Amino acid sequence: MQRSIRYQIVGVVGAMLIGALATYLWLASDIFASDKLASLKDVTRVLASTAAEQVDASVEALAEKLRFYGRSRPAPDELFPAGSGVHAVRVFSREGSQWQEVSSFVRPGAPGAVAQVAPLTAVQLDTARVAGLVVDNTSVAGTALSRIAVAAGETMVVTASVEPGRVFRSIAAGGIVRLYLLDAGGRVLLHPEPDKVLQQVDLSAVPVVRDALKAELPSGEREYESATGGWVSSFTRTRAGQLVVVAEAPREEAFRAARALTTRALVVGALMIGIAVALAVYFSRRVSAPLAALQGTIERIARGELGAEVEMQSANEIGSLAESFNQMSRELMRRSEELDRKNQQLVQSEKMSAIGELSAGLAHEVKNPMVGIVGFAQLGQESTSLDEAREYFKLIDNDAQRANGILQNLLEFARPPDVEQEVLEFNQVVAGAVRLTAHQLQLNGVRVHTDYADGLPKIRGNGNQLRQVLLNLLMNASQAMEGFKDKHLYVQTKGGDAGAQVSVRDVGPGIAPDAQARIFEPFFTTKPRGKGTGLGLSVSRSIIEAHRGEIRVESEMGKGATFFIRLPSADALLNASGPFPTIDDLKATRH
Ligand code: ADP
Repeated sequence: MQRSIRYQIVGVVGAMLIGALATYLWLASDIFASDKLASLKDVTRVLASTAAEQVDASVEALAEKLRFYGRSRPAPDELFPAGSGVHAVRVFSREGSQWQEVSSFVRPGAPGAVAQVAPLTAVQLDTARVAGLVVDNTSVAGTALSRIAVAAGETMVVTASVEPGRVFRSIAAGGIVRLYLLDAGGRVLLHPEPDKVLQQVDLSAVPVVRDALKAELPSGEREYESATGGWVSSFTRTRAGQLVVVAEAPREEAFRAARALTTRALVVGALMIGIAVALAVYFSRRVSAPLAALQGTIERIARGELGAEVEMQSANEIGSLAESFNQMSRELMRRSEELDRKNQQLVQSEKMSAIGELSAGLAHEVKNPMVGIVGFAQLGQESTSLDEAREYFKLIDNDAQRANGILQNLLEFARPPDVEQEVLEFNQVVAGAVRLTAHQLQLNGVRVHTDYADGLPKIRGNGNQLRQVLLNLLMNASQAMEGFKDKHLYVQTKGGDAGAQVSVRDVGPGIAPDAQARIFEPFFTTKPRGKGTGLGLSVSRSIIEAHRGEIRVESEMGKGATFFIRLPSADALLNASGPFPTIDDLKATRH
């Protein structure tokens, strides 16, 4: 299958652009994504540590106030004003081994849920006393509450029920990063999802929280997978109460920019590829159109239109290719004409030599009627009546016609070659040649057997030239059988729709295999000097090939030689496809 250069160029350009775009996208999104991931980590780390410092500060400030309250019991309204987020405060004192609530305060307007919060047990109070500060989630009845328990000296613990959103205000996450606060055991104190606070969800199983709870270091970072996707997270623990602040962002965020880049690059890239392909089509057409014109001209030349030129005016390589091609075409025509001329000269000289060979027979052929004419003329002179003289005139006329016919035939044959072709009856051409040589063959003692098939197709060609070929075969055969006792020549025609064939078989010595390969070469002869030119068969072959036919020989030493000539029928020549119908095309049909 022929593949157009245009599509190849477009294919290559398209493939290169797609490859370049894909490589660019891959590299760019990779760099983008890893860069964004790094900056996401930075953001979560900074946010976690800043938030932890603020939580530290506000918890520490509140703890200070609680300690002060425990020790001095000032008016609570001043210490814990309405907007402070502190709903209730209780002061416990340890008397011997018992804890007593020594004072309590519930701010008016505090949510009712505050009253439902169970007070700390003795063990919990002891723990707070030892730890110094404990924060836990005491949310109850749909109200988010946290409790801060602070040791105020050796025997006193002050607890406060607070609104976590107000006290830990700094944990107000926004944007793509979410921040949450956990108590020392991993339980949620404050979270962007309020339900998690109300249900006091334990997040200690979340990898980053697990890290935070067991970590020796006060901060760290971690990437992990969860049911909701991958997270980039950092934690920082507060000094006061060992609370855990986690800041995390979905890892997808890191790829969002890369994806946006990919989408835009794809749109722009598709546009560019479209433009590039259009340009490639345009330029490759400029290359392939002249090539197509060149191909068309080559086909014309191949069909025999020598000298055909391609019209092209371009100043590039294609233009100079066209110019060289045109030069070649002109040169081809010039040489072909010269070759034709030489060929005709050769044909003519070969013809003259054939006439030389025929001359003895022809002279004999003409001599007979001449003798008749002379004899009848003498008899005429002696005739006594006009009627008798008329009889002799008639006989003289007959013989003169006969001699004239023979000479006419010879002149016809000797005429310089013309290349006119006409539609011919194949058998007539063959029979004409046989007739021309009949007398010579008879003189040489050769018996000719003809077998002409009926209904042969008409052929197209130059009768004079074809006769010359046959004459050459007949004379060669006759010469080959010289000195043989039985001299037989078989001329047979046959054919089918595609063409016709004539075979000339003799019973002479045959042709040796190595000679068979050379007999069609010019100047190859086995005949003595002055007898053979070695041109007969080579001229014959060039004539037959000019008729798009085939000439070949079959011979076995000692069994004679048979020459075959095949010619395409006039119809087959017209219908044959392609510039050069060969005999192979024609062989396919029956003979
Ligand atoms: P020429 O007849 O002048 O030698 P041709 O080209 O006609 O040139 O023939 C070339 C050679 O082919 C002859 O010299 C002869 O050796 C051989 N040849 C041709 N026809 C026959 C034939 N019928 N039998 C044997 N040899 C032949």
